[in-house]
Amino acid sequence: MTEKIYYHNPNQFDFEAMVIKTIQNENRLGIILDRTCFYPQGGGQPADHGFLNQVQVEDVQLEGEDIIHYVETPISEKSVQGRVDEARRRDFMQQHTGQHILSQSILRVGKWNTVSVHFGDDYTAVETDASSIPSSKYIEVENVANQIIQQNLPVKIEWVNPEEVDRFQIRRPPPEVKKVRIVQVGDFDASACGGLHVASTGEVGMIKIIGDEKIRGRIRIHALIGKRAFTDYDNKLRVVQNLCQIMTCGEDTLVQKVQNISDQLKEAQKSLQKFQAERISVLAQESINEAIPIADVLLIQRIFENTDNKLLKVFVDSVLEKTGRVTVVISKSGDQLNWMAGHSLSRPINLAKFCEPLLELIEGRGGGKPGFIQGGGKKVSGISQFMSEFKTKLAEELIGHE
Ligand SMILES: [Zn+2]
Repeated sequence: MTEKIYYHNPNQFDFEAMVIKTIQNENRLGIILDRTCFYPQGGGQPADHGFLNQVQVEDVQLEGEDIIHYVETPISEKSVQGRVDEARRRDFMQQHTGQHILSQSILRVGKWNTVSVHFGDDYTAVETDASSIPSSKYIEVENVANQIIQQNLPVKIEWVNPEEVDRFQIRRPPPEVKKVRIVQVGDFDASACGGLHVASTGEVGMIKIIGDEKIRGRIRIHALIGKRAFTDYDNKLRVVQNLCQIMTCGEDTLVQKVQNISDQLKEAQKSLQKFQAERISVLAQESINEAIPIADVLLIQRIFENTDNKLLKVFVDSVLEKTGRVTVVISKSGDQLNWMAGHSLSRPINLAKFCEPLLELIEGRGGGKPGFIQGGGKKVSGISQFMSEFKTKLAEELIGHE
């Protein structure tokens, strides 16, 4: 049986202990001590991390009356110096106490019960029995919760026999155990809980609801509690200050200014697209004038720079408006190639089959319908040979071998 120092003194993080046993559990090395400050995973609270001598403790589990410290490497010494990761533990003590306050606040504001809780690395989640909660209610919940924090109420722990539980107005029925651990937040909340808590509500600091989600038809509330809420405020303040500097405005006009710029950008993009489409139509006309006649067919080839697929398609569609044409276009952006080929012939040519043997020239690939295909490639130096082979192959296809 391991003595649980964390229950007598949750603020003790360093301790000395004797190694009772070393066990091997599914390829994991576990150390059992006579006493420990390490809190094992349970009741939704994650396990403490830290060190035994110089060896890292990765996980802590309760098995029967023993607490098993899972470590990376064996510990040869009989006596150990233990050190719990204090920042992580304090964070979870804030989360646990904050969750009790939050659950009771949710109950008082909307008569919604807490069904389950989750203490994650990013936020604490409280699953309620509500199928919907209007966002205005969250302001009320936050007000109730943060008033309780400001009142700095004592958080008291009592171990009682199951028959004594009725003395307390506990939020949820207790588990069936020999002794029930009751956590009381002043006279605001009482609940059966095996987790670790701060000594008074002031230590929780702050509770901020950041959003919710619907799971299994119920609302699950996400909250930042304690130092996490402050860190989040700090991060958001920096973002806002940086944006104000970039936009040369104050916080009060920031949203409007960003909205104006976004609207202007959309307008500018529309104009640019219109201009580009017009330019592509002109290029298409030029290219048709310079087209290579093969039998009764016109072959239109063009190489573009940094032109997106949408514009290439506008070009292809423009030149294929009339029947009797074949086109192949390539755009190069750095060492990346995009290409398209299409035809408006009355006789069938399967362009996928037609282009397949040529693709190795540009280290390309692609696919599509028999009349139109597109793809990519990466050998820029192969473009002119690709174009010239395309012409030769088309001539063979249309007028046979010479
Ligand atoms: Zn708790």
